[in-house]
Amino acid sequence: KHAQVVRTFDGHGHTKDGHAIAILANVGDTASAREAASANAEGVGLFRTEFCFLDRTESPTVNEQVEQYGGVFAQFSGKKVVIRTLDSGADKPLPFLTFDNEENPALGVRGYRTAGRAPELLDEQLEAIAQAASAHPSTDVWVMAPMVSTVDEAEAFVESCSRHGLNTAGVMIEVPSAALLSSHILTSARFASIGTNDLTQYAMAADRLMGPLAQYNDPWQPAVLQLIDAACKGGKLNDRPVGVCGEAAANPALAIVLVGLGVSTVSMSPRAIPDVAAALAAVEYKKCLEVARTALQARNAREARRAVRAALPELA
Ligand code: PEP
Ligand code: MG
Repeated sequence: KHAQVVRTFDGHGHTKDGHAIAILANVGDTASAREAASANAEGVGLFRTEFCFLDRTESPTVNEQVEQYGGVFAQFSGKKVVIRTLDSGADKPLPFLTFDNEENPALGVRGYRTAGRAPELLDEQLEAIAQAASAHPSTDVWVMAPMVSTVDEAEAFVESCSRHGLNTAGVMIEVPSAALLSSHILTSARFASIGTNDLTQYAMAADRLMGPLAQYNDPWQPAVLQLIDAACKGGKLNDRPVGVCGEAAANPALAIVLVGLGVSTVSMSPRAIPDVAAALAAVEYKKCLEVARTALQARNAREARRAVRAALPELA
């Protein structure tokens, strides 16, 4: 029997030729943050705060929130934590924030749109984040809003954050409109994080929860890759960092493509970190650029995947 090879990550993501790519973790509570820290994640790229309150019928108090967020910040002293404001609705309903009577909840009042209906909840959450951040001054806290689809929303969110002294405010790019408008969005937003799960769902008009639609819900779809490319170009124009925190980042070959498209961070479930880190460390940056071009030019997801795999003997 072969001994099982257990890969570990040393905490410094890079390509073979030393181009730095931060490898971050997606977490939802203190327990998963602990797991991420022991996987040597370079920080948290997505803290899904709604996961702290999924079973709640009443909105959490500011103090309760401070405690939850502080628990995660404490695990990443000296590192970055990107905390996302509540992303409620569709696949993640919060009874105190979203209604279940919408006909098309994925296209309804979800994500940042709930701030229009309940501005006081966003305000309380930003207050809680600011308090937890000042209780953990050595954690670099970045804040972002989910499901932003217009430039006005991005500007309003950044403004709300600054009222709470939260100056590193950004947005998720997970709606095609936001990807296409990223050059404008990223003049006010300090960073963007691409949510490929929703970006794929909305680009392909395919409910991400429907198994029979899995062939559409595939981030290798060239249309999705073109939107990611557009988002990265907006980042480059404004000299703002763009990362990916959707499931796509957890696929080693696709992570290489994402780096070639211009993302500077990839964030994933802690379990995926060692394989993605090893894949990136095996390829030159130039190769990332090449396979990104290959993937962008493909006619369908199958061709994109096949052509990229064929160009990456390093991963075999
Ligand atoms: C995404 O949509 O890719 C994402 C990271 O957010 P969530 O999966 O929480 O909707
Ligand atoms: Mg999403």
